[in-house]
Amino acid sequence: MTERISIVENILSANDRLAEENRARINAAGVFSINLMASPGAGKTSLIEQTLPLLKDKMRIAVVDGDIATSLDADRAAAAGAQASIQVNTGGECHLDAVMLHGALNQLDLTQFDLLMVENVGNLVCPAEFRLGTHKSVLIASVPEGADKPYKYPGMYRGVDALIINKIDLLPYVNFDMDYFRHGVEVLNPGVITFPLSCRTGEGMDAWINWLIENTKR
Ligand code: MG
Ligand code: ZN
Repeated sequence: MTERISIVENILSANDRLAEENRARINAAGVFSINLMASPGAGKTSLIEQTLPLLKDKMRIAVVDGDIATSLDADRAAAAGAQASIQVNTGGECHLDAVMLHGALNQLDLTQFDLLMVENVGNLVCPAEFRLGTHKSVLIASVPEGADKPYKYPGMYRGVDALIINKIDLLPYVNFDMDYFRHGVEVLNPGVITFPLSCRTGEGMDAWINWLIENTKR
């Protein structure tokens, strides 16, 4: 048992070292980068698709899409206006790690971009454990998932820098107790910036877009 734990710790510390290397490369190129995490179907790709048209005249954007299989999401990002979109197939792994992002960065001339959006694999558990080297971790929750997710996945909710609450257009149709949800978030991650929005209707997208612009200008 002890041995097993130390192996896991070694894997994570090797990952962290490479994440630092990724961060140094991203910083050297003057790029702002985000790691988008969520459960499957919460709207990671939809958010990227809706974000790109609102930003692509203001900045140059690269997207790295992690998926267990297929390049569907990278294709959608390219169609929505990403100047570069790289698909990382994780070969069955349920998260991206720093090695995978490192490989994707090797395929990009980072100096050509202002913003790097990384779409992690849909999963609320291990993506929280593997730092990639990106500047900000962004979690997308969605209304149909239910309000209990902060309570069930505290590790994910605790570590993020921004929280999107997607599909707010569905609030009248589903049982989602916003107060209960927000209380769970507040206990784990006090004061975390939140963006309630709908990728489908566009409601609330402005605040999210402004946050990206502000951070990219640094
Ligand atoms: Mg996706
Ligand atoms: Zn995993």
